[in-house]
Amino acid sequence: MFDIYSGPVFDMARQQFKQASDILNIPFDQRDRLLYPKRAIAVTCPIHKDDGSTVVYEGYRVQHHLSLGPSKGGVRFAKNVDLGEVAALSLWMSWKCALMNLPYGGAKGGIRVDPYTLSARELEALSRRFMQELIPFVGPHVDVMAPDIGTNEQVMAWFMDTYSNDAGRTVTEIVTGKPVSCGGTVGRREATGRGVTHLIYRAAEVINLDLSKSSAVVQGFGNVGSVVAGELYAMGVKILAVSDHTAAYHDSKGLNIPDIINYVSKHGVLKGYSTQSLTDPKTILTIKCDVLVPAAVERVINEVIANKIDCKILAEAANGPTTIEADAVFAQRPDIFIIPDVLCNSGGVTVSYFEWVQDLQQLFWEESEVIDRMKKIMDKGFYNTINSAKELKVTNRMAAICAGLKRIYMSRKARGLFP
Ligand code: NAD
Repeated sequence: MFDIYSGPVFDMARQQFKQASDILNIPFDQRDRLLYPKRAIAVTCPIHKDDGSTVVYEGYRVQHHLSLGPSKGGVRFAKNVDLGEVAALSLWMSWKCALMNLPYGGAKGGIRVDPYTLSARELEALSRRFMQELIPFVGPHVDVMAPDIGTNEQVMAWFMDTYSNDAGRTVTEIVTGKPVSCGGTVGRREATGRGVTHLIYRAAEVINLDLSKSSAVVQGFGNVGSVVAGELYAMGVKILAVSDHTAAYHDSKGLNIPDIINYVSKHGVLKGYSTQSLTDPKTILTIKCDVLVPAAVERVINEVIANKIDCKILAEAANGPTTIEADAVFAQRPDIFIIPDVLCNSGGVTVSYFEWVQDLQQLFWEESEVIDRMKKIMDKGFYNTINSAKELKVTNRMAAICAGLKRIYMSRKARGLFP
């Protein structure tokens, strides 16, 4: 059924869904409805390139469900985006929002483009065209977009401006992750990384690990990875290695993270930072450390790597970094405490929720309030997950997915067939 989504990423989400549905004993005739997205929209986005030529990019928006409120989720600009990947990411967003008790269904969007090859003008044209094509299908109470891989605050500002021009008034609540200067919230840009770091702190408490004497490795040095590395560094954690799609650096004495963040803010990527600590990006995930943070893309930890990983906490900042086969390996490795993606990176959507609430009310909060409220919600999700993992005798991942899926199932059961 629904072959349009088939592919390695959606197949992975489908298998996770089956495992969780079996644990929850969800009737078979209810399953397809909970698995497949409510809507998937494909758009063509033509733009004029700087050389005068016209190029057409394909874009997608998948709204997984709207049973608990509007759908919510990021938009990624990446060269290998496809419909199945976007659909899987929308399903994970649904579980994440429900686990954190946010009034949203999941959504995700993407354009198949390498954003690093576009000029600033081309990026603006593409961002505006994507939103323009989606105006009939989104809205502050229908579907609210946010940044993800390859997009940022500036792209969100262009999305908001395009929607607002069409509406004839400023509609800040149409997207989250905007600059603070045009309706964004303080603390959103850092939220995902901060949330990841907070849960690493909680996991360290559970396994009695003194973070100030520990080490970490971070894969991916974009919005999420750079903030996690910076926050851990500030807590006294020795950051042994970092990588992005252009370079990887490893120093057993610890890297100077503020220096690297400064370099990346000027150059965009890690490449060129140093020649001394360069290392093979393929080896980054298997470096011995206390805390391992994949913060890049899906399916980077396969069965072989899972067997070689030598860490105490695996904090899945990226969405879907661990394959089903690798997960089976981890199920036999109680030496690793896993903070699963749907929980680990939920600080982003939690603070996006705060941004949406503030925009709707036009009443803005102090950063300390944003951070305190985020930590409270994340703590609830964390303890709910680890306690129900013990009760149900399942992994942290299955406990988190089951908690989210159950909430969606119960609401749909109560409402009937349409939502
Ligand atoms: P980003 O575009 O800012 O950064 C992505 C980083 O990953 C870049 O440094 C890029 O070079 C690197 N990368 C890409 N492919 C790689 C590879 N094969 N090996 C090593 N590094 C690679 O994106 P982001 O917003 O930081 O998102 C990172 C992950 O976090 C994604 O999985 C995303 O879905 C997830 N996430 C992001 C947010 C958010 O608020 N931005 C929220 C929740 C989850």
